[in-house]
Amino acid sequence: MSEFTPSHWKDLPDVQCGGHAQSPISIDTSHLTADPNLVDFNFTNFSNNHTLKHFVNTGHTGSQVNISHSIAIDDLLGNVSRSKFYRYRGSLTTPPCSEAVVWTVFQEPIPISEDMVKLFPKTLNHLKVYRPKQDLNGRKVFASPAILPPPGHSWCYDEDCDYKPSRWYQLPHSHCGGDRQSPINIDTNQVMHNKDLNNFTFVNFSNEHSMKYLKNTGHTVKCVLEENMVEIEGGGLNHKYSTLQFHFHWGGEDEHSSGSEHTVNSKRYQMEMHIVSLRKGLTVEQAKVDPEGIAVLGFFIELKKFPTMMGYHNVYRPKQELHKRTIYTSSAPTLPSPTALLLKKFPTMMGYHNVYRPKQELHKRTIYTSSAPTLPSPTALLVLLPLFYPACGWMGAQ
Ligand SMILES: [Zn+2]
Repeated sequence: MSEFTPSHWKDLPDVQCGGHAQSPISIDTSHLTADPNLVDFNFTNFSNNHTLKHFVNTGHTGSQVNISHSIAIDDLLGNVSRSKFYRYRGSLTTPPCSEAVVWTVFQEPIPISEDMVKLFPKTLNHLKVYRPKQDLNGRKVFASPAILPPPGHSWCYDEDCDYKPSRWYQLPHSHCGGDRQSPINIDTNQVMHNKDLNNFTFVNFSNEHSMKYLKNTGHTVKCVLEENMVEIEGGGLNHKYSTLQFHFHWGGEDEHSSGSEHTVNSKRYQMEMHIVSLRKGLTVEQAKVDPEGIAVLGFFIELKKFPTMMGYHNVYRPKQELHKRTIYTSSAPTLPSPTALLLKKFPTMMGYHNVYRPKQELHKRTIYTSSAPTLPSPTALLVLLPLFYPACGWMGAQ
């Protein structure tokens, strides 16, 4: 093995490893340049089963395996989109680091099993075989048209873009100026008890294989679920709904900062989770024009200090509490759920803050509650039955 670690590759003879157009780089998706010329590739013979000759383990010379199975490059690439990619000028990532490479990096990862992930380091016995990130030095990273949203329609939660919340109604195809917008403040003195708001039935909420992937959309962290697996019904809903995704709204980095969308008696909670479901039998387009096309469940998230590790299991009881429609009981010693612990990190890790829409007017709407009027106000959760999101920001970029 060489004694030259990556930072010393530039000292090797006849290399370009200290150059100004080196690879790999970190791709910052907020600083991409759209290039309309980056259209689909033509892949010749990627589906040919006889193109792979042999595998060579380059860490041990002489270790070579001929390929006897019929396998094509397409089989390795799977179904990832080949029209979504980044382009920049760079180098080979190993010495001599020649700056002769037109790089294309595809956006979607190839899904593989956990066994395969472990297989490479285990079988080949070398770890961390990647070169550290190199400086861009003013180089531009281009994005294919399939990656970027249509130009000029950027919206944000702060003042720092073309469309801040007070101008969302001007966005193309927007309903954001309608008279049944969300979120709202819930005044518990004005809510109406409705005995028809019975228990929900949550189908596959305990299934550990329902989550497909997590995505940082630039406005939120969204978890997309497997199709036709998770469902909700009951709870006074008139239809059955298929759950598509859940995502979060949060405030600033300060642990006391609040960023829920809904407020209760003007109290803003620290975060809010939205579980978004589509009425069964409808397409997304149909659901968006149906007054009951989309059901969103809103859960407040609140961090609580915990004095000791004792009693942890007394507090975190999501399964029982879900039926009662509160996340935490107010009687318990205060401990955070794993969710709350994790979510505390969001503002710091994602680098954007205060991703919640300001309060909207209630107009003539009535808010119903499942709680009997004598009960104290819920500590953590409310169920937003009549508050279907009318196509303003419910899915688009979230
Ligand atoms: Zn939301």
